[in-house]
Amino acid sequence: MEMAKCAKCKKLFPRIREPICEACIKEEEAIFETVKEYLRDHPKTTVGAVSEATGVSTKKIFGYLRDGRIEVAEGAGLECSQCGVPITSGQMCTECFERASAQIAGMVDRGESLTNVKKIPRGKVLPVGGRKPQ
Ligand SMILES: [Zn+2]
Ligand SMILES: [Zn+2]
Repeated sequence: MEMAKCAKCKKLFPRIREPICEACIKEEEAIFETVKEYLRDHPKTTVGAVSEATGVSTKKIFGYLRDGRIEVAEGAGLECSQCGVPITSGQMCTECFERASAQIAGMVDRGESLTNVKKIPRGKVLPVGGRKPQ
């Protein structure tokens, strides 16, 4: 079996899909669950308060937000990566998201390469209000 070095604890582990080992995946999941549960109990909180209450770094929490895995209330500290207005999840506000989508669609229509779209962050992008909080 092919071995890989865990990106987190540097231990060797049998290579699977993730860049980190099973123990670290479980640890990461537990951290994520802590943040998610805190947000479920405190929907109107800020990223700073979540970090303080859960002991999870704001960098990690912003990462979850950018991935669209969690949502915070408006004004919690998350901003559109394009224009800086407050957003609740993902990376861009609805307006910038739509503009970016239209830009991509236009490029596809003209047969241009998507690699020219430098401003669009990679990964999952969700518009504000695209999902209802549970
Ligand atoms: Zn590990
Ligand atoms: Zn924006």
